[in-house]
Amino acid sequence: MGLKEIIKPHILGLEPYQPGKPIEELERELGIEDCIKLASNESPIGPSTKALAAVREALDGVHRYPDGASYALRERLSNQLEVDPAQLVFGAGADEILELLAKVLLGPGDEAVFAWPSFAMYPVVVQGMGATSIRVPLTGDLGHDLSEMSAAVTDRTRLIFVCNPNNPTGTSVGAEAFNRFAESLPETVVLAIDEAYYEFVRRSDFPDSLEWIRRRPGTIALRTFSKIFGLAGLRIGYGIADPELAGYLQRARHPFNVSRLAEVAALAALEDVEHADRARATNAEGIDYLCRELGALGVETWPTDANFLLAKAGPDTAVRLLREGIIVRALSGFGMPDHIRISIGLPEENERLVKTLRRLREGSL
Ligand SMILES: *Cc1c(COP(=O)(O)O)cnc(C)c1O
Repeated sequence: MGLKEIIKPHILGLEPYQPGKPIEELERELGIEDCIKLASNESPIGPSTKALAAVREALDGVHRYPDGASYALRERLSNQLEVDPAQLVFGAGADEILELLAKVLLGPGDEAVFAWPSFAMYPVVVQGMGATSIRVPLTGDLGHDLSEMSAAVTDRTRLIFVCNPNNPTGTSVGAEAFNRFAESLPETVVLAIDEAYYEFVRRSDFPDSLEWIRRRPGTIALRTFSKIFGLAGLRIGYGIADPELAGYLQRARHPFNVSRLAEVAALAALEDVEHADRARATNAEGIDYLCRELGALGVETWPTDANFLLAKAGPDTAVRLLREGIIVRALSGFGMPDHIRISIGLPEENERLVKTLRRLREGSL
């Protein structure tokens, strides 16, 4: 008997998540040194120096387990968000909160509804529990089709994800459409609003997820320190929910799921408002620059509220950019072979991308 016989069938059926290629790996492959990565929506300006200083200071204490309750960070965030401390759940990235939601809500026979293309971890966490993913195609302009998502809810639906702004398209849902949708959902479905890019949003009519958490008990918003705060490598994110739902997630999590270093870094990052403002400004300038320059090259882009841009750059563009030392995200796995997702970089990185794309299109590469 092989191991295969005893592995859960839903695990055998899982497609492993494909992360962006690390810079070091591409540099090894090409034998060059100046590769750039615009593929994983990381912060191009790096972490806050204040967060780094806090990590250095905390290093001496790593023989101790972390504070499993994340007391200091919980207090700080609950004040900032004006929620009860018991409404917060911390995880090793928002990814872990997604996984906790699946663990708490899903099993064989249950369904979870989400848009597609959307964040690639949704099917992983749903099918990882033996439940069924119900993927609702995006609209023609690549936004969430909220009325179809609402119509996809059955008596087997336990969880519905709204990725706002949506990864990998950058498109966002406005308050009016969102409110109508949230009102339409039965109470017995948990609404998970994935706001990993919340701090970058520029539209003024963005839905108020905290208001929905107050109004509708089975609602959770997910946020992360991986994106605007530049702490992706430390792994810390959180959920904001009503105390009852938060309590169920707390029961299911490991007691020390967030490291000491991640907690102190997150706390310091929240204090470093100047750093977050700089990340936001760098991003906004980069989006405007790339939209303008790609438009001039005849490359279609989509409006984005995140730190990345969807571009219709033509087939094989990601592979051809890779040969020039630029890592972007190919979207062929989503059935979008003509599109790429570009994480907004530093001005010089964005310029190099534009120059390389121009040469690719001119046929000089
Ligand atoms: C990046 C991302 C996350 C979570 O990232 P973590 O690093 O695990 O906090 C969650 N949802 C979406 C849509 C993302 O793009």
